[in-house]
Order: sequence, then C-alpha cells, then structure tokens
Amino acid sequence: MAYSTVVHFKEGMGPGDKLLEVGRCPHCAIASPNFYKIWSDVWLAGGQEGWATYRCNSCSGVVSATMTLQNNGQMPVLELFPDAKRAHDDIPQPARSFLQQAFETLHAPDAAAVMAGSAVDAMLKFHKLVDGSLYARIDEALKQHLLTEGMAKWAHSVRLGSNRPRHADAEKPHVSPDEAKQSVEFAEALGNFLFVLTAKIDRGIKAAEQAEQHAT
Ligand SMILES: [Zn+2]
Repeated sequence: MAYSTVVHFKEGMGPGDKLLEVGRCPHCAIASPNFYKIWSDVWLAGGQEGWATYRCNSCSGVVSATMTLQNNGQMPVLELFPDAKRAHDDIPQPARSFLQQAFETLHAPDAAAVMAGSAVDAMLKFHKLVDGSLYARIDEALKQHLLTEGMAKWAHSVRLGSNRPRHADAEKPHVSPDEAKQSVEFAEALGNFLFVLTAKIDRGIKAAEQAEQHAT
C-alpha cells in the first residue's frame, strides 16, 4: 500500500505526526489531505505492528491505521479505516473510471451525480442497452431480467445526472450532498450487481472445478 509515515523518537518510538501519501480523505474526498496524528501506540521494536489515529485538517474526520515499524525507520501503513473508495477492477471501462470519479467528487454533489449517471450509462451500454433515456434503458434492463425489480425501483428514486428526471423538481436544479451520496451508492451497487458479483461467481465455479480435478 502506498501510505507511509515517518518514525520519530519521543517517549519511545511512534509514527510521525503526519500521515503521508493518502490520495484523498475518505470522508471529505479532498485531494492530498493533511492528516495529523491524534493518538498512537508506542513501538518498542522493529517488526512490531500497532495502531494510530489521524484527523483530517479539512473535515475533522478521523481515520485509523495499522502500521508496522521497519528496520529502515519507515512505517508503511498496512490498512486504513475507512479507506478511500476505489471502483472495483471487475467493472469494465469506461464505467470504472466514471464510478471512480463519482467517488472522488462527492464534495461537489452536481459533479458526483453526473459521474454516477455516466457510470450507470456505461454499465448499461456494456450490456447493449443504448437507445433512449437513461431511465428508459433501466426499465428495459428490468424487462430483460438484467436488473431486479428492486434495483430498477432504486434507480428511479436516485438522481443520475444533474437534471432531475421528474418535471416537478425543475425548480430544484442542484443536487444535495445526500442525493449525490445516494446516486453514487446506487452506481456502486449496480456495478457490484452487474459485474463484480458475476465475476466472483465465475471465479468461484472455476476454482471449485479445479479443486475437483485435483481431487480425482
Ligand atoms: Zn477530510
């Protein structure tokens, strides 16, 4: 993992005051966040694993990290909680990069809703649903049993794109932070449903078949 922090010596050994190289704050999505230490374990020896917590200077959100002390004095972070969201590798391009941009623009709700809409659009296109409006194609996906009734209903309740699909909402052109979050959650769930789960099932079947071959 790319995160790192620097050891210093103060009442034993502990991680540095700054958490470096985190691309974006998982809470507010600001780029190159300034994370300062609020607490950490004390390290007594190299190789030891421990915990530290850091606070984002922009949003005051807290992350916790497990890290290990290496003999060269570096403390690479093993895991960060919560971690910045990443669009799953099993989601095909360009849907994956649209979804990634949706994650990264949550602080700008209009942009996030547009990116969520583009991600959903690309996912449907991958399944050869290209004609008509986004919401018409979602209905078509339901007809083709690509989506469940629940997924289609959910799609219609979130804002995919900056314009509201319903005329009654014309006087509210902007997407609220909550609406943006919901539309990005839907796009992520659709990606999981259409691609990630399918790929996982395929890999599971293959692994089971291989295990059977080895057993015989
Ligand atoms: Zn933050």
